[in-house]
Amino acid sequence: MTALPNGAGLTDGFGRRIDYLRVSVTDRCDLRCTYCLPKGFKGFEEPAHWLTLDEMARLIGLFVGLGVAKVRLTGGEPLLRRNLADLARKITALPGLADLSLSTNATRLVQHAHELKAAGVGRLNVSLDTLDADCFARITGRDCLAQVLDGLLAAKQAGFAPIKLNAVVQAGVNEADIARLMEYSLTHGFVLRLIETMPIGDTGRQAAYVDVTALGERMAREYRLIPQLLGQGAGPARYWVSPDGGMSFGVITPMSRHFCAACNRVRLGVDGTLYLCLGQNDSVPLGALLRAGASDGELLAAIRAAIAVKPERHHFNETPDKIVRFMSQTGG
Ligand code: SAM
Repeated sequence: MTALPNGAGLTDGFGRRIDYLRVSVTDRCDLRCTYCLPKGFKGFEEPAHWLTLDEMARLIGLFVGLGVAKVRLTGGEPLLRRNLADLARKITALPGLADLSLSTNATRLVQHAHELKAAGVGRLNVSLDTLDADCFARITGRDCLAQVLDGLLAAKQAGFAPIKLNAVVQAGVNEADIARLMEYSLTHGFVLRLIETMPIGDTGRQAAYVDVTALGERMAREYRLIPQLLGQGAGPARYWVSPDGGMSFGVITPMSRHFCAACNRVRLGVDGTLYLCLGQNDSVPLGALLRAGASDGELLAAIRAAIAVKPERHHFNETPDKIVRFMSQTGG
């Protein structure tokens, strides 16, 4: 894999350096969040079109060879994929990789936290929209808030840092629970981030959208937090911190204030489809090329060609009906 000597990393047609890959290791989930994947879990058998973990590791290795330094495992619910820690170990062994992280709903973290930490997963994002058990069951379709909170404590005990809590805010659903989530995050040293619903799939379009900037500013005032200035490549969230640095809180505003100009990422679906933008349909079937016998050189060329035509930005506001695929397919 002699990728970098031929050209310095991956830069798209708008001069953006692409150094972050998110990988959907399954398109299934054991929750049925109303704005995401209401049909949820479909069993443990792994369909033939899913890449094997070895095939995924090969593609991820090619991206890392092209200068991708950060990889996130996501889905669907990644902890439903068997032998995930094996994949994590393969990824962390890649020369050039700086950061392996995981997005999870935490329902299975009690069983997997220590193993994943030992396998080299560093940072953890956990979805948690509410601390009210009934509200949790209404949003996710499952009455398992206690299991999720146990999972979070197991992750803390295993030494993950930071642990970020991602709360998708919906009007009239969990808006009133944000203060409780703030308190809980403060108590445990978690970083709460409020997220705007995106019109992805029918379900995402029907969600009760809230512009979270104003809500974030109100929370920051209440907790006497100050805006944190972050440099280039810091990711899409805007943060506030306490003056002593002990508390951090953020908002992610893909709708009200998009961050596409600083986009540094692409996504790999469970079948190896490379998605160039969460909010556009442009994709390249890397998995199909791999299974057709493509060499590393041919796959590297396909990746470079794809990055060159990465779309400038999403059009969620202009054409909210455009993205029919589920978030779990693209890798949320
Ligand atoms: N199962 C994992 C989890 O719960 O984090 C990873 C996949 S999940 C699709 C990743 C994130 O996408 C979650 O934080 C979820 O809340 C968010 N998400 C899903 N659908 C969304 C939508 N329509 N708008 C905004 N965020 C969404």
